[in-house]
Amino acid sequence: MEKRRIYVDNSATTPIHPQVLEEMMPYLTESYGNPSSIHFFGREARKAMDKARERVALGLGAKTEEIYFTGSGTEADNWAVKGVAFANKKKGNHIITTKIEHHAILHTCEYLEKQGFDVTYLDVDEYGLVNPDDVENAINDRTILISVMFANNEIGTIQPIEEIGKIAKKRAVYFHTDAVQAMGNVDINVDKLGVDLLSISGHKIMGPKGIGALYVRKGTRIDNLIHGGAQERKRRSGTENVAAVVGMGKAVQLAVENLDQHVRKMTSLRDALIDGIKERIPHVRLNGHPSQRLANNVNFSFEFVEGEALLLSLDMEGIAASSGSACTSGSLDPSHVLLAIGLSHETAHGSLRMSLGEINTREDIDYILDKLPAIVEKLRALSPLFKQCEGGKVSV
Ligand SMILES: *Cc1c(COP(=O)(O)O)cnc(C)c1O
Repeated sequence: MEKRRIYVDNSATTPIHPQVLEEMMPYLTESYGNPSSIHFFGREARKAMDKARERVALGLGAKTEEIYFTGSGTEADNWAVKGVAFANKKKGNHIITTKIEHHAILHTCEYLEKQGFDVTYLDVDEYGLVNPDDVENAINDRTILISVMFANNEIGTIQPIEEIGKIAKKRAVYFHTDAVQAMGNVDINVDKLGVDLLSISGHKIMGPKGIGALYVRKGTRIDNLIHGGAQERKRRSGTENVAAVVGMGKAVQLAVENLDQHVRKMTSLRDALIDGIKERIPHVRLNGHPSQRLANNVNFSFEFVEGEALLLSLDMEGIAASSGSACTSGSLDPSHVLLAIGLSHETAHGSLRMSLGEINTREDIDYILDKLPAIVEKLRALSPLFKQCEGGKVSV
């Protein structure tokens, strides 16, 4: 097989869909008006923003006035957690979240702890699942917010959001979910899920980078995060990134329209990759839930292999993957998610995430399955531990 360029890091970011780019182009060129201006340039931009907001609302089963555009998924997460915390601090100071959230949630919660809030970080089971009973048991009379991610960006586990939503409603606690990875891979309806706040990001769903959205259920008490002009119905100031907003609207529309077909295609590629790795490589462990997982997520630990070395070897073969989340690569700390599901530091270090996307084909999977076993074998041959344990007992 000739050398290829294969991208299996779609949970880090995705390419822009050609139809998304096409809809954005006018707002990067001739339609440059400020949506707050009353002249025709401004009205043109305003109209495009309204249409994008309608598309996002439709995609989430929300009302248009419940959708706010933000500068990223990270900002949407920050706003949801800080905004609800600060607006409701007279009522209570307790927040419930999990140990496997994205850093946009975890680091925000750690910041709030310094501001006097109490945060419960719930454990997950070996598959990365949160137990809704644990959520209910953690609620006390000072609890103001529950934030549990819809689907995990590293191991792909999908949480029982609907069940947690029922508990939150029964106990009258605000409920936020980070749906950045779920969007486009899972059917999302804010009423069915029973969420009060929900974050999404443009660049994870073939939209542009630097744009996100926060759904805020009507009547939710939430402070502003960004102060300034009167944009986004006075909730999120700053002249709108019109082109990115337009791109986000189109990306959400396409993600929802193509959901079933996308999930079918991803599931088939994912399962071929998972089965192929299990067949060809000994001493591996699939991380995440076997069935309640994102259709595009593959995450394995390879015993006696160093993740960074694996990534570099794959890179040399033209395969772009990840050792966890893009945010933790470059640091030597093992992933907090893999530690939370009970992996040892060594096993967590030997982990590889391959996240698939619309761009991937069956040929990509075959190419990876052709290259990966030899790479793992070569790296293991260099490991003194592996030689010691060969034929003996191994931990996975
Ligand atoms: C990527 C990601 C984010 C952050 O979104 P950005 O738009 O990159 O800031 C938040 N949560 C999850 C689960 C993600 O995967």
